[in-house]
Amino acid sequence: MIRVALAGNPNCGKTMLFNALTGATAHVGNWPGVTVDKREGTCKKGSEPFTVVDLPGIYSLSPYTPEEVIARNFILDNKPDCVVDIVDSTNLERNLYLTTQLMEMDVPVVVALNMADELEKNGDKIDVKLLEERLGMPVVSVSAMTGKGVKELIDRTLAAAKRKRQGVSVLGRTQLAPAVEEAAVRLRDDGVSSPLFHAIKLAEGDSLESKNHKKTAAFIRNYMHGMTDATFGEDWEAFVANARYDYITDNYSPALTRKSGEGRKLRLSEKIDRVLTNKWAGIPLFVVILFVIFHVTFSENLLFLAPALGSGGEWTMFGGTPFEGLFASSDGVSSPGVILQKLVEGLTGLISDGIGGAMESGNAAPWASGFVVDGVLGGLFAVIGFLPQILLLFLFFSLLEDSGYMARVAFLLDRIFRRLGLSGRALMPMIMGFGCSVPAMINTRTLADEKERTATVRVIPFFSCGAKLPILVGCAGALVSSSGMGNADVITMLMYLLGIVVALVSVILMRSTTMRGELSPFIMELPNYRRPGFKSTMLHLWDKAKHFIKKAFTIILASTIIIWFFSHFTWDWHYVADEEMGSSILASLGKLIQPLFTPLGFGSQLAEGGWVFAVAAITGLVAKENVIATFGTLATAIAGLGAAELDDAGINAIEALMDETGIAGAALIAFIAFNMLTIPCFAAVATARGELSKKHFRWTLLFWLASSYITSSMVYTIGAVWWTLFFWLLAWAAAVTVIVLVNRRLKKKNEQNKIKTA
Ligand code: GDP
Ligand code: MG
Repeated sequence: MIRVALAGNPNCGKTMLFNALTGATAHVGNWPGVTVDKREGTCKKGSEPFTVVDLPGIYSLSPYTPEEVIARNFILDNKPDCVVDIVDSTNLERNLYLTTQLMEMDVPVVVALNMADELEKNGDKIDVKLLEERLGMPVVSVSAMTGKGVKELIDRTLAAAKRKRQGVSVLGRTQLAPAVEEAAVRLRDDGVSSPLFHAIKLAEGDSLESKNHKKTAAFIRNYMHGMTDATFGEDWEAFVANARYDYITDNYSPALTRKSGEGRKLRLSEKIDRVLTNKWAGIPLFVVILFVIFHVTFSENLLFLAPALGSGGEWTMFGGTPFEGLFASSDGVSSPGVILQKLVEGLTGLISDGIGGAMESGNAAPWASGFVVDGVLGGLFAVIGFLPQILLLFLFFSLLEDSGYMARVAFLLDRIFRRLGLSGRALMPMIMGFGCSVPAMINTRTLADEKERTATVRVIPFFSCGAKLPILVGCAGALVSSSGMGNADVITMLMYLLGIVVALVSVILMRSTTMRGELSPFIMELPNYRRPGFKSTMLHLWDKAKHFIKKAFTIILASTIIIWFFSHFTWDWHYVADEEMGSSILASLGKLIQPLFTPLGFGSQLAEGGWVFAVAAITGLVAKENVIATFGTLATAIAGLGAAELDDAGINAIEALMDETGIAGAALIAFIAFNMLTIPCFAAVATARGELSKKHFRWTLLFWLASSYITSSMVYTIGAVWWTLFFWLLAWAAAVTVIVLVNRRLKKKNEQNKIKTA
């Protein structure tokens, strides 16, 4: 089958075009560096099917970071039949820089001028015929967003893939030409493919290439010995780059006609940026935006209207039905997220009531209905109840990212990040971590420095992912309704912030102790503001929902069933009813590890049944949703609630557990913190193992255990007895002093060594 590779600058729309060609639902983001690995799919929309490979974005074929190497090696080694060079036509000249390099390879290239819709909206025009003539390669104007031109692109790509093409260079008239020509001949004689491309890289002094072609590298160095250029001296890399841009300006730019006068839209986006990326206002604005998002998604007291509405009672709507408090409750007016959640809860409640009723009237054994209603449905529905809020939160994040705003936040935070020992590039994987740690860890491949990468992989799980959200929302909801502690949205957001703070503190500690290292410069251009694509946003959400539901009905369902069995059978396989669950296998195992959590507030100090917290923390290691599913399965039994009373999904279960075990509010917050910061789920652990060296991986597991244990014991002790704060401060001050002193000594030693060797 014909194989076609998509190459282009970051953020030019490669992934969106990949999706348009193959019908896949890969993640599209208005953010350079979303795709870090290649991805394959099949396009069946042409006269014959062909394989499409989506590559990470690259600005040039001289790679610095691992994901740039992936893109370049794929084109060179795997020899696709055709490369589709995707060019952001609103940024023509800069994108053609890569084109001038791709055309040096002996591979057919088709240039796709993407974002044709945006170009048109800006009022600019590109003369496709003229550009095609001058490039000597097929050029097609397309819009991955609207689908315009995609058919033509497919046809011309298939046609091009069947022909051979020899590399040509735009450097032909520069003083390097003779050296390059001579080197290319030698490389061809050695049987190297794309000799022209390699010869130019050698002339530039590319270190990777010089290693691979030692003989020719020496030859070309000799040949060029003594050659200099008036402007660039012997910096041939800069010379070549400049020559490329000059050629583009002279020969290709005439194809572009800009709307006369400065683009009105450009000025508007600059005006917006003056506020959003303002040195002082930028970050507070970001926090406000985050708060609004959390408020709209999680608040049961929208706009804090409760006091204005008077005492709750009469505001409770649909009282007595499964949809009680749908639009408003005694807490206040429901936010859209809460309305959606209550709808799903009402429905799942009806289902479990229906099934429970049917089993009862069918005279099913009590253990059987207990298994189905409490065990399976209780656990499953407790998790599914959170799906609407998770999707809503992802919708907001996806809009922030797609509009181009998140890239601005990265830009704002770069200044702060540098002081912590990270480059702004590290922010992208961290923000992806709010979705799921797995792609986020893979995304760290955009970091050039190995140690920076390790440190980043380690803190990614602290950016609370979608699966941890039910823990946050469930526990926060229970805290609010049982002890009247603040608002659920505020607690949830504060827990997110706690994760971020712990991540940043850990990074500082690592970068100043075991993970010292240099920082690579951060170059990130700000993408244009864009209206997020409706289709790709919906695809993104649909993908998330599918993933979540699939997980619920596989891993989580299986775990729930196992938990129910172990909690209802004794070691000698006797069935025990709910009231005697304390003698079950699970209870005895839970009680065994329970003392470990005593310093965190949810250990031995809890009343009978407190082992559930220990068990939930352990089941969370498989999938974080399991924490809430475990509560859903066991709470009914422990609190002696009937399944019917368990209407408020996870929240109600946790509230009942709080009453029954007497867990302190501070301990429940410590419990959230522990689950958020400890070893992440199986999938994330496996990914970390793949991304890190073996030695680093082992320490990473220990690091996760230590950071979660220390942080949550801090949360608990300070929350329970406030003046222990001073002990913690003292301990931290001592640790920081030791680190500073050690670093100073190391620095001195280094300097002395340098003097000695000099
Ligand atoms: P990649 O980094 O090259 O893979 O780029 P993506 O496919 O992730 O897209 C980057 C951004 O450009 C996203 O915000 C897309 O919605 C947007 N985009 C991609 N193609 C088009 C297009 O044809 N027209 C418009 N208006 N936007 C596009
Ligand atoms: Mg991409």
